[in-house]
Amino acid sequence: MITFDNVSKKYDNDQVAVKAINLEIKKGEFFVIIGPSGCGKTTLLKMINRLIYLTEGTIRINGQRISDYNIHELRWNIGYVLQQIALFPHMTIEENIAIVPELKKWRQQQIQQRVRALLEMVGLEPDKYSQRKPKELSGGEQQRVGVVRALAADPEIILMDEPFSALDPMSRTKLQDDLLELQRAIQKTIVFVSHDMQEALKLGDRICVMKDGEIVQVGTPKEVMENPINDFVKEFIGVKEHSFNDFNIEQVLEPMTNGELQHVVSCKDSLPVILSKLAQHACLAVENDGTIIGIITRQSMLQFLAKDGSQRGEANG
Ligand code: ADP
Ligand code: MG
Repeated sequence: MITFDNVSKKYDNDQVAVKAINLEIKKGEFFVIIGPSGCGKTTLLKMINRLIYLTEGTIRINGQRISDYNIHELRWNIGYVLQQIALFPHMTIEENIAIVPELKKWRQQQIQQRVRALLEMVGLEPDKYSQRKPKELSGGEQQRVGVVRALAADPEIILMDEPFSALDPMSRTKLQDDLLELQRAIQKTIVFVSHDMQEALKLGDRICVMKDGEIVQVGTPKEVMENPINDFVKEFIGVKEHSFNDFNIEQVLEPMTNGELQHVVSCKDSLPVILSKLAQHACLAVENDGTIIGIITRQSMLQFLAKDGSQRGEANG
């Protein structure tokens, strides 16, 4: 369906963002590209619809080179959802969704029917939402519109660049669930960029782990989980390991209270040491060179651990 044959991208500043990629994305597949910020995910994605021009190699869609497609045909037949909610603020929800069908000169009645069907598909009541402006919707609702806008003209392929990463965790989980359900119904070829391994494992039929512009591993979530090819992939999967490495006592430290301070840990103690003490005592004083600098409560620690890596301030890709 989409094949990459030795594809590289070198930017004008000589930065090689993507290096000699060989890849085949199958028809109807939910394909997730994952990797840390700056590893080339967005570049790889945008080369598919020629928003970024490749500098070497060939990308083909259904066997035909992307350079041989008419650029408008190519763009209109590939849905695209961005990380930033990118609805046009002055246009209604209906107008936003109708952009590509309008460009393709669909009949008005057909467009209206399509908009209604799409809004219903993602649980937004058409009578209530179609005439509103984007700012009258919540972030999660706006991104739902972003998703169905990409589907509007029934493209074969949908590209999604970290579409849910700007949302709060609850909306993100809901939209992931809805997207999975939607995909069961529409069976599009989806190329989805993420920097969140949990999201990738949840959504992907296959996932492709990237690092420094290169592919490190491609496989089903099960394959990658069971046989991570190297330490980089292992660390990327190991959310818990990650949180131990990331731990900084400042993230859970609270100001002193007047209570008694019977149980003291050092700010230099490791997370496992602190956790084992918190299992015994609900509140610990923290000392630094003999001075008490604050307290840690069981509650603040649990809140910290409940967040995933991306919420703990990891950079977005
Ligand atoms: P990701 O989406 O994984 O965060 P990108 O594809 O955006 O990564 O970027 C890959 C690399 O290419 C980064 O080092 C980035 O700084 C660089 N890069 C991205 N866009 C440009 C550009 N327009 N000009 C020069 N370098 C760029
Ligand atoms: Mg990116």
